[in-house]
Amino acid sequence: MEEKYHLGEVPFGVMFHHFHNEDHPSSQGSIDEVAFKKIIQHLDEKFNLISADTWLDKAMKDELKSEDVCLTFDDSLMCQYDIAKPVLDEFKINAFWFLCSSLLEGNLELLEVFRYFRTNCFDGVEDFYSVFFKAFEDSSEQDFKKLSGFDPDKYLAGFPFYTLNDRKFRYIRDKILGVEKYNSLMCEMFSLRDFDPASIKDKLWMGLDHAKELEKDGHILGLHTHSHPTMVAGLSYENQLSEYEVNKVYLEKHLTQKSLTMSHPCNSYNKSTIEILNNLGVKIGFRANMAKIQSSGKFEFPREDHANLVKELNL
Ligand SMILES: [Zn+2]
Repeated sequence: MEEKYHLGEVPFGVMFHHFHNEDHPSSQGSIDEVAFKKIIQHLDEKFNLISADTWLDKAMKDELKSEDVCLTFDDSLMCQYDIAKPVLDEFKINAFWFLCSSLLEGNLELLEVFRYFRTNCFDGVEDFYSVFFKAFEDSSEQDFKKLSGFDPDKYLAGFPFYTLNDRKFRYIRDKILGVEKYNSLMCEMFSLRDFDPASIKDKLWMGLDHAKELEKDGHILGLHTHSHPTMVAGLSYENQLSEYEVNKVYLEKHLTQKSLTMSHPCNSYNKSTIEILNNLGVKIGFRANMAKIQSSGKFEFPREDHANLVKELNL
């Protein structure tokens, strides 16, 4: 297994994604306000929890201590703004928010839409799987035949917690369909449940006004690419540059602060990414895990996933 830093061994961030309350339905890995407060209190007691502006300042001066921890929010999610921000206000602490300009502009990101669709338009994951398997069977005889290659005992054997249908779904999605066919099959399923993705856009993502409000309250807003590709490292130098440059130009046009910080979407980056960020004047970046890596520079600060803290604290 990959070696990990334990918390407090090096300066780190905590990476938050989904939150739930009465308006934002719970989904895999989401936490509520109460759990969020407990995490903050825990970090404050065990480590040195500091505001993002202080963390950034210390990082730029090379003065971070191993117990220094900050809070970070990826993906411009509205549930973070609605649920986490009031808690941050209450605790008088500011955080890093890594924003995708395409989402702030009002475009959709399909992965997030699919997550919402799966969670809210079905009676549980098994109901979703049965509709998905049927839609897949109906979509192409040729593709359906490829399912004979699926061996549930061998496929994703390293993930013992996956159910048979979890494996079957992932096999169809990743081994048979691939990204494009999977996306279009899911989009075809929307009509089966009268689901209109445009109708949930404002519920899922923050807009520019929210970003401005965060800035007004002292938060640090940073880059997370323009359109959130899942494999930045697989993009050409030019495409990587465009993803980060468009993101930076957009944020700096609409906000008063310079974009000095970033986090790597899906933890995907390579040497070109680091070079591009350096050239764009970005000062620090965050990974999406606590893995011990050889050359951890200023663009590779580790982060602990909130899901791991939830487990550790039995929340
Ligand atoms: Zn992301």
